[in-house]
Amino acid sequence: IARARYIGIDYGTSGARAAVIDDNANITAEASTSYGSASSLDEAWRSALWRLMDALPAEQRAQAASIAIDGTSATTLLVDGDTGEVLAPPRMYNAAQPAEAVARARALAPPDHTATASTSTLCKVLAWDGEGAWQVAAAAGRSPAFVHQADWVAGLLHGQWRVTDYNNALKLGFDPAEERYPEWLAEQPFASLLPLAVVAPGAPVAPVTPEAAARAGLPEGCLVCGGTTDSIAAFVAAGVTEPGEAVTSLGSTLAIKLLSTTRVDDARYGLYSHRLGGAWLVGGASNTGGAVLRRFFSDAQLAELTPRMDASRPTGLDYYPLTAPGERFPVNDPGLQPRLEPRPADDAVFLQGILESVARIEAQAYRLLAEQGATPVTRVLTAGGGAKNPVWTELRQRELGVPVSASLQAEAAYGSALLAKRGAALAAPSPTALVM
Ligand code: ADP
Repeated sequence: IARARYIGIDYGTSGARAAVIDDNANITAEASTSYGSASSLDEAWRSALWRLMDALPAEQRAQAASIAIDGTSATTLLVDGDTGEVLAPPRMYNAAQPAEAVARARALAPPDHTATASTSTLCKVLAWDGEGAWQVAAAAGRSPAFVHQADWVAGLLHGQWRVTDYNNALKLGFDPAEERYPEWLAEQPFASLLPLAVVAPGAPVAPVTPEAAARAGLPEGCLVCGGTTDSIAAFVAAGVTEPGEAVTSLGSTLAIKLLSTTRVDDARYGLYSHRLGGAWLVGGASNTGGAVLRRFFSDAQLAELTPRMDASRPTGLDYYPLTAPGERFPVNDPGLQPRLEPRPADDAVFLQGILESVARIEAQAYRLLAEQGATPVTRVLTAGGGAKNPVWTELRQRELGVPVSASLQAEAAYGSALLAKRGAALAAPSPTALVM
């Protein structure tokens, strides 16, 4: 029996990556590419897909049982829903939309809904609506449709242009608990342009088209599964499966994501929940984190000072490290001032004081989630540049009171490959079904 392979593709902020895994979830091949220069963003994404596929070993592609794609959250396209042809330049994940569109989103959606952020998918759809872009396309005989980046790339493979997933659809306003568009969205004139099917990340969608199979060297039955966003794919990559398990990302900022049996949404703290598997992925982000470290220390200095810290001797320093005033989570205070005084003469002590303070803020963040009804944290995996600091890990473990370790995998493409593997298992006839 030929061993099956599962492919994950990540469309990230700076480039696209692919990971191939086997039945043991081990990586058997990887590829990456920059988007390069092309006549349009979508052309760059299309050529990146074929370049990635060409870069993977042909014999592994030929064994691919399934494939799943993640993309940058809220990157939105206006396409022809019959052909996938792109009808307007894509609006990127971080592009703030015009004030009129944002005002309309705020008037439509519940207060502080994630779809009211100026970069949300909803605001992008409203901006096109306000400009008359889809109306013009419809008048010209097109079948306009709105899709996310991950949906569109999946469409290049399975030829379906009206399918998305719970995670990408959240910033559009989709209600993942009710599994439908809420009334305020469903009654809009453009509602019929929204994705018709919203599936669970990893859910089987459709096999690759014969043309895509031939172009990418995939077998004809290869199943394209529901995608997700790049940050959720990175969370999935860490291998968290049980409620109570969490991933803290210690990059420029401190971001936490906790798998919980209950959902937590609280706009005051910028908390919201994605649906994932049978549970909820509760996430929040603090403004503290590595950006403050970078202000005082180079990575080389961090590496040199770290062995001089002593985790068993707390400094007693009580900082709130921020690069600018203002915090959202776990303290909602837009005017919160950075606190980094007093600064001890010894830089190793100063560094330890900062790391201890960030660890305290992290612990406070997990406590706040529990107070809001989330599953209490039982284990923390760590991603981002801070994960490689063993003394920080020790300080955090003491502060959090649960085991803390580095994520073995943080590549979003690997997370998408895990979703593809899940989808293939769901689609396979179960042994009982074969018996009966
Ligand atoms: P991002 O992608 O958010 O910019 P990264 O995940 O690349 O961030 O992490 C970079 C951060 O990690 C920097 O802010 C840096 O200060 C921090 N960092 C790098 N090395 C260390 C270290 N040895 N100890 C603690 N923090 C570190």
